[in-house]
Amino acid sequence: MRRRELIEGALLGGALAGSGIQAFGQSARTPGNQAQFTCQGEIVVERAVPGKPHTGKVLAAIQPHADDVPLFAGGTVAKLIQEGYTGYLIRTTNDEMTGLGTRGEGVLHNEQDNEAVARALGLKKTYDLSYRNHRLDAISPQDLRGRLIFLFRLLQVDTVICYDHWGLYEENPDHYVTAAAVESACWMAGMDKDYPEHFEAGLKPHGVKEKYYFARGPQIANRIVDISSVIDQKVEAIRANVTQGPGGGNGAQLRARLQARGLRLADLGSDDETASRNYIKRFVLDYDSLYQRGVPSDREIGARYGLEWAERFHYIRPAESRLEAYISRHAVAL
Ligand SMILES: [Zn+2]
Repeated sequence: MRRRELIEGALLGGALAGSGIQAFGQSARTPGNQAQFTCQGEIVVERAVPGKPHTGKVLAAIQPHADDVPLFAGGTVAKLIQEGYTGYLIRTTNDEMTGLGTRGEGVLHNEQDNEAVARALGLKKTYDLSYRNHRLDAISPQDLRGRLIFLFRLLQVDTVICYDHWGLYEENPDHYVTAAAVESACWMAGMDKDYPEHFEAGLKPHGVKEKYYFARGPQIANRIVDISSVIDQKVEAIRANVTQGPGGGNGAQLRARLQARGLRLADLGSDDETASRNYIKRFVLDYDSLYQRGVPSDREIGARYGLEWAERFHYIRPAESRLEAYISRHAVAL
């Protein structure tokens, strides 16, 4: 057993059972038909749902950098939008440290890419908080949290997708600082004593109910989302990151390098556009898993659950009230 499988097994296979009943989800079963549990409850497989069951709900996809959501959660964002959510893309940094040319050019080009990511995923609007890239651990946590609370109240956000604050071995401060601010802003936005001046401007307390947290390292994952029906949309969102990430012509470049050596990979097709798409599908999301730092690729995650492509998350939603359930079962009329 490879090291990463051991880690995954330890994190995914915690012994404590919990209630695994989730809306739009289905419990994962082992070949022996035993439910799998984590310390956060049963692992749930969330499949595509017909129709628009999420109509009226609001999703915020929150990323430090233009390429984070496309790589780790692009399929789930596309799926939830397809199922009726209205979605927004919030980017916390200006991405100035990436891309060719100067930092200033990096800011502009990533801003353009980020808009293209939003279009590819069907998101309605982007919000750029524009903190400096690689320096998010130097800003005031309260400033970032306050801006997120404002947006959660303004947009009436029901569900967030972001990095997992509790994912292991994350080395990028932009990632873990954003994740920590999101986690705290989700519940503080629902209280009436944090930033009360918002209410004078017409906003109301509004807490975030559901959270999908992704990680690029070991993680307590309790939700597997089937993204097979939207995989091509995920590929287009990744391709939108021309300035950084594998959207920037890696497939075409590999094809050219091989041609110079008198070689050809059938996977890359016969033109640059096909090479770009197929490179992402075949190598970024499957065989090579470039950006996933030793965690399974979308193809590998899917294969474990009998799916073609899947993303994994630590998913949180409010616990159902056992008191209310008890009252409905036992209370009698006066
Ligand atoms: Zn990033």
